[in-house]
Amino acid sequence: MRFFHNKEQYKGCNTYSMKKYVDRKRIIFNIIVAIVTIMTLLLVIYYILDTSFRVKRSKHFLAQIIEFRKQQEELEKQKQAEKLAKIPQLTEVGIENIKHIFYSETKRAFLTFDDGPSKNTKDILDILKANDIKASFFVLGSQVEYFPETTKRIYDEGHYIANHGYSHNYANIYQSPEQVLNEYNLCNQIVANAIQVPEYNSHLFRFPGGSVGGKYEQIKKQAIENLKQNNIVYVDWNCLTGDSEKVNPTEEYLMNNLQATSQEKNSIVILMHDSQAKRVTVDTLQKVIEYLKQMGYQFENFYDIIK
Ligand SMILES: [Zn+2]
Repeated sequence: MRFFHNKEQYKGCNTYSMKKYVDRKRIIFNIIVAIVTIMTLLLVIYYILDTSFRVKRSKHFLAQIIEFRKQQEELEKQKQAEKLAKIPQLTEVGIENIKHIFYSETKRAFLTFDDGPSKNTKDILDILKANDIKASFFVLGSQVEYFPETTKRIYDEGHYIANHGYSHNYANIYQSPEQVLNEYNLCNQIVANAIQVPEYNSHLFRFPGGSVGGKYEQIKKQAIENLKQNNIVYVDWNCLTGDSEKVNPTEEYLMNNLQATSQEKNSIVILMHDSQAKRVTVDTLQKVIEYLKQMGYQFENFYDIIK
């Protein structure tokens, strides 16, 4: 601390020191203002950069969401189209195709399996899958009730599920033409439930024991008209392995029948059975396929005809 001895000395010193004091204060003030300005500026720059980055990122995110939604919609449309394609629509062309099923310019073979599904059906499906062949299954409503999952697998793997009635009991199904339609409807309903497609209708029936002959011929004739009025067609077969003709037939017996009944035919609808008792059909199927391939047949199913 300094001591002043007179007023003048005190005054001079005071002015100088005050001036010095005020200058220092201004410098400090200016520095603070500069620092605050720089920091504000940096904050503004940071804010602008951050905002533009966020906007850019949110735009990118939004574009991704739109793209994802588009893909989902496309997938949904595709699924819907696939689902619709698997629900048979019987057109005039389809009716004509069925009428001429046993005639074609080129060689074609329809593998058909009646009276299933059963425990054997899974093995048949495995063989068909390994050979990349789509077949047709004329299922029984009473069997579908026991094997709904196998029925769904038949459908999911692209085979045609057609209708063979409910009971396969001749006295029951052929008691009247109306009863044939009743059994068709009942079987169709059970199939639709099993495959979880409520609107499913195969439009295709096969008469147990065939559409002609036998003691129920008249009932069958009337039933054909009845079915027609309900937009349902029927199909028999023109080739068979004879797997249901006797108890325990051999593979050789099946192959001989196949060769004999396919002779000189371009378009063959082959009758086989995937019922429980017909293990021989599973055991012979690969040979049946190889024989038909060798003879130059192309495999088709009723999706190629009906829709
Ligand atoms: Zn049958």
